[in-house]
Amino acid sequence: MGVRLSGKDIYKNLVALRQVIFEVTEACNLSCEYCGYSTMYDGYDKREDKRMPFAYAKNIIDYLSSIWRDSDSEAEIAPVTTLGFYGGEPLLNIDLIRQIVSYIESLGLKRTIRYAMTTNATLLNHYIDYLVEKDFTLLVSLDGDKDSNAYRITKDGCPSFDRVFENLQYCKNRYPAFFENNISFNSVLQDKSSIDQIVYFFKENFGKIPRIGELNPFHVDSNHLLKYKGMFRSKMDCLSHSSHRDAIAEELFMEDSCISHVFNTLRYNSGNFFLYYRELFIDSSLIQRTTTGTCTPFMLRMFVTARGKILPCEKISHDFFYGKVDKERVNLNVDDVAIQYNQYVQTIEKQCTTCEGRNNCPQCIYELRNKNGNFCCTEMISRKDIEQNLYSCYTYLQKHPHLYQQLVENVSFM
Ligand code: SF4
Ligand code: SF4
Repeated sequence: MGVRLSGKDIYKNLVALRQVIFEVTEACNLSCEYCGYSTMYDGYDKREDKRMPFAYAKNIIDYLSSIWRDSDSEAEIAPVTTLGFYGGEPLLNIDLIRQIVSYIESLGLKRTIRYAMTTNATLLNHYIDYLVEKDFTLLVSLDGDKDSNAYRITKDGCPSFDRVFENLQYCKNRYPAFFENNISFNSVLQDKSSIDQIVYFFKENFGKIPRIGELNPFHVDSNHLLKYKGMFRSKMDCLSHSSHRDAIAEELFMEDSCISHVFNTLRYNSGNFFLYYRELFIDSSLIQRTTTGTCTPFMLRMFVTARGKILPCEKISHDFFYGKVDKERVNLNVDDVAIQYNQYVQTIEKQCTTCEGRNNCPQCIYELRNKNGNFCCTEMISRKDIEQNLYSCYTYLQKHPHLYQQLVENVSFM
């Protein structure tokens, strides 16, 4: 039997919480055809352009800061927590963002608070001065040039590319250092784009390499499966068809599936990878790990929806909320969170004990629930899979020997 969490473990996660993400509005001024909240997907609360009331954010901040206060005064180095703003398009509710930032500033917390936002950049020209003043980190969603960006359209079906590109040029000229240091990009690969096109576009225009993701394969609505399949493009396939495969892979580095695969194989099999300092001093086979590689609740972040649901992550179905916030209070009981999480784990545990990948499992537990409501993993790993993985990894390293050094020197964990 794997480890069972207790309320104390959840409390510790809240003390060390690295990121709190507020969905400040459900509203968006774009209507991207592959959006996780579009009709192509289910599993998310219906979007009604709801805006988060300030009281929700204030109650969450008060709840967390009362947990942080004691531990932070004892810490030798001020812990860092990032407040993230998410949507919809978060800049449509800039008033709430300003209110939250002012409130945080008024509290005089011992912990360092940073600000981050995921944005479609359509309104960036209006608010860039404020975002620069507060030293926000921005993740801009843009799929590449005009053709690659074809699915990112306005509510009237018009392309959004020109406006976004103009705004980015404006920010780059007005605040070059901020643009260089605080802005990164996220592109979704689909049938209208290719990795070559994406990499070339961002290097040429902004001197940057974006994160490149595939369409989300989870919670696709069964009525839209054909549409999804038509749009889907795999990174691995796309790259293998590229005539500049090696050069592009070098540019992408950890964004490249082969390189990240090599890295993960080395990480889990080299015997030199330690998740915690204590693993340096004890036999790591004696350390009990939680079943599946998922983060435990609030170990990485907390996501609060505009309707007040409290989730451990913005990427998972809204059904997995652990508590709620309303205008009066936060309803989040750490013991209940632990019980709920343990129940999820219990349902998959039997299957995991027979899986060879159980000690290094990268599977998010919240993605294992099928349409019937049962938890079931389709990625069970056999000894043969592990051997094949090792073989492909070492073959790749033989062909690209400098990569090992690059990985050791350049990859860090946050
Ligand atoms: S996707 Fe799953 S494993 Fe990854 S951060 Fe979110 S909850 Fe954790
Ligand atoms: S790959 Fe699937 S079966 Fe194997 S340990 Fe992970 S969740 Fe369990």
